[in-house]
Amino acid sequence: MTDSVPVGRRHRLALTPGWMVYVGSALGPGGVAARLAHHRRLAERPHWHIDFLRRHGALDAVWLSHDPIRRECLWATVLAGELGGVPPPFRFGASDCRCPAHLYRFRDRPALAVFVAALKGRCPDHAAVVESNAPRNAVTA
Ligand SMILES: [Zn+2]
Repeated sequence: MTDSVPVGRRHRLALTPGWMVYVGSALGPGGVAARLAHHRRLAERPHWHIDFLRRHGALDAVWLSHDPIRRECLWATVLAGELGGVPPPFRFGASDCRCPAHLYRFRDRPALAVFVAALKGRCPDHAAVVESNAPRNAVTA
């Protein structure tokens, strides 16, 4: 059975077993630390698409880079391309660019090493990407 959850006022997202990978940049005030702090807690007033989804799933891990160039669309391209991720039927997290989405679904947990190899294939000068374990927040809804 597939449940769906509201994402903003206009969309619903089907929740099926598997993994979802969301990409975003952290070039604003507070940088990576502020962005991660935001995603590690559940927003009282959800604003971004990912804020709505966070209420329905655990945050397992964060892959991050301190590359000074905005690379989120490249990451989305690799997730959809080399890694075979499936986007939702609306442009989750990608209203400001041309990507199909900045969220991709996988049956099995994607491997960081495979992602990095594909990323480096497309962008040899990309800064290092590391995994930061995240607390396994309980699903609250
Ligand atoms: Zn994009």
